[in-house]
Amino acid sequence: MSGPPKNLRIARCACGSVEFEAVGAPILCAACYCDDCQEGARRIEALPGASPVQGPDGGTEFVLYRKDRARCTKGSQLLKRHKLREKSATNRVVATCCNAAMVLDFDDSKHWVSMYRARFQGDAPPLEVRVCTKFKPESSVLPDDVPSHSMYPFKFVTKLIAARIAMLFQR
Ligand SMILES: [Zn+2]
Ligand SMILES: [Zn+2]
Repeated sequence: MSGPPKNLRIARCACGSVEFEAVGAPILCAACYCDDCQEGARRIEALPGASPVQGPDGGTEFVLYRKDRARCTKGSQLLKRHKLREKSATNRVVATCCNAAMVLDFDDSKHWVSMYRARFQGDAPPLEVRVCTKFKPESSVLPDDVPSHSMYPFKFVTKLIAARIAMLFQR
């Protein structure tokens, strides 16, 4: 009997019309407080009927996957890419059916996709780190449940590089 693949996670938009599948262990699960993530969250949250994108402390939680391990399996025609700046390579991809933020991906050759953690509902991997906290809203006090870094910690970068190397070897 062949069941579903191991370590398969489903990310769903708020109304259920759009689904992404991610297979295997994520590279990392992080909350980002950078100006772009805050601005991106505000713009998406301003869309009609949108669910919250960032937490009350200004952080947006992402689960990073190798891009060969995450794909849209339902409703891809409903996806719309938003750019903060016209020439930016970064897309915040929204399900237009209910204006749910689904993933953050790139036009260039970056090898990962950042999936909005809130979309995994009950099945989200645990948060591991907070990054770019020097940009957090002044008023917000961060919990110390996971490490916080003012920018990108070394471990964050090495994990991304390790994932790239693993892809080269098709692991
Ligand atoms: Zn939807
Ligand atoms: Zn960010």
